[in-house]
Amino acid sequence: MKVFVIDVDKCTGCYACQFVCKDEHVGNDWSPIAKPQPDTGQFWMHLKEYIRGTVPKVEMHYIPLLCQHCDDAPCIKACDVEGVMYKREDGLVEIDADKCIGCRMCVDACPYDAIYFNDDLNLAQKCTGCAHLLDGGEWKVPRCADACHTEAIMFGEEEDFADLIAKAEILMPEEGCKPRVYYLNIPKKFVAGTIYDPAAKEIVEGATLTLKGADGATCTATTDGFGDFWFRGLADDASFTLTIAAPGFATKTIDGIVTAKDVNLGDIALAK
Ligand code: SF4
Ligand code: SF4
Ligand code: SF4
Repeated sequence: MKVFVIDVDKCTGCYACQFVCKDEHVGNDWSPIAKPQPDTGQFWMHLKEYIRGTVPKVEMHYIPLLCQHCDDAPCIKACDVEGVMYKREDGLVEIDADKCIGCRMCVDACPYDAIYFNDDLNLAQKCTGCAHLLDGGEWKVPRCADACHTEAIMFGEEEDFADLIAKAEILMPEEGCKPRVYYLNIPKKFVAGTIYDPAAKEIVEGATLTLKGADGATCTATTDGFGDFWFRGLADDASFTLTIAAPGFATKTIDGIVTAKDVNLGDIALAK
């Protein structure tokens, strides 16, 4: 059974995956796997940009999104027409482009918004896993995986990726769809800021910061040569207390830090 494993940390945001998906499917008829993708409005591979934090504590990452080729696919259950939506033996989920009647039931059923509707052809369409290429025998991986120069997108047998899958996460696990697309290194929340001495009008290098969670767990950081500190990899919607200590300064505590989103605490003054 095939899987996609996507390492978000390796994605440079070059858009090659999105581009080659268009190159493969726009203007090309691979029926019954896929009829031509419209040149606008559909992104079977959609590179989503995330800009996190506030200036100047900003980070950016990209997540390649595609049909998750779910093992318990609500789109297949929603389709009332026998044989139109199906899961192949290799795990890929397909819409038979010759049989789809355009009722749109699958479009509404997909929690990942992975299915597009082609008004001109009256047809539901989505990522096919480039099954037409795989079935041809010459291609071992789809176009998007082949084009990714950093190997952020990997494709192959599930057992060959067992070690990576053990460390990966799936999108929207609460939906219970059992996706066959696994993601590595999706960034968690951060808390960041800058420590300075208002009397000297200087940043404070080497201050020790301790971030304590509501569960009592702590982590520490030290301000760098710009007075900056970063705590990365924090859980969503967690509450923290930050304690700042530096030689010659009074210890400062900031309560009520909540990682509902990435947190830039801004410039924090330390008093003597
Ligand atoms: S081709 Fe690879 S590096 Fe480029 S945007 Fe897609 S996933 Fe990211
Ligand atoms: S991501 Fe959506 S379209 Fe793809 S298999 Fe899952 S439910 Fe179906
Ligand atoms: S597997 Fe093929 S159809 Fe799916 S996103 Fe990649 S290039 Fe597009």
